[in-house]
Amino acid sequence: METKPIIAIFPGSFDPITRGHLDVIQRGSKLFDRLIVAVGQNPDKRELFSKSERVEMIRELVKTMPRVEVESFDCLTVEFAKMRKADVMLRGLRNLTDVEYEFQLAMTNRTVAGIETVFVMTSEEYGYINSSIVRQLALLGGDVSKLIPPLVFEKLNVKMRRMPRVPEFDVPES
Ligand code: ADP
Repeated sequence: METKPIIAIFPGSFDPITRGHLDVIQRGSKLFDRLIVAVGQNPDKRELFSKSERVEMIRELVKTMPRVEVESFDCLTVEFAKMRKADVMLRGLRNLTDVEYEFQLAMTNRTVAGIETVFVMTSEEYGYINSSIVRQLALLGGDVSKLIPPLVFEKLNVKMRRMPRVPEFDVPES
C-alpha cells in the first residue's frame, strides 16, 4: 500500500531568520516528506526586512535541503495550511515561556481548523535567540553575528548602512 506523503508547514515571520529557526527547519526536514516554510506578517511587529527579502534569504539558506520549500502568505496561517493540504504545523520551542503561548496557539488551530501541531526543541545553544532581540540589537548597532546565519548578517549590514540614523541613539561627541 502506498503511503501518503506528509506535508508540514513551518509558519513564522522570520524577520530575520535566525540560527534557531534554521535549526528547527533542519530538524523538521528529517521528519516530513515536504516542509513548507511559510513566511507571514505579524501585525504586532514592525518589519525590518520586506516579505520578499525574507523569502529570498530563506530560499538561499535551504537550497541544499531538497524537501524544504519557501513561500509567503497573507491569509490566516490555518487557511494557508489548508490551501497547501498540510497535515501538520511545525513549531519550535525554546523554553517554558514558549510552551504556554504555543500551547494556546496549537489548541486554537486544532479547534478551528483540525490541524495538529508538531513541536521540536531547538539546540540549547540557540534557545535564547529571538528575532525581536536581533532587530533591536541591530538597530542599536550591537553585534548579532552569532545569532543569525552569515548570509543574513551580510544583508543586515547592508540594510543598516542604508537606514537613516536615529538621532536619539547617536553618542554625543566629546
Ligand atoms: P512569530 O512571528 O509567530 O513569533 P517567529 O518567526 O518569531 O514567528 O517564530 C516562528 C517559530 O519559530 C515559532 O514556533 C517560534 O517558537 C520558533 N522559534 C523562533 N526562534 C526560535 C529559536 N531560537 N529556536 C527554536 N525555535 C524558534
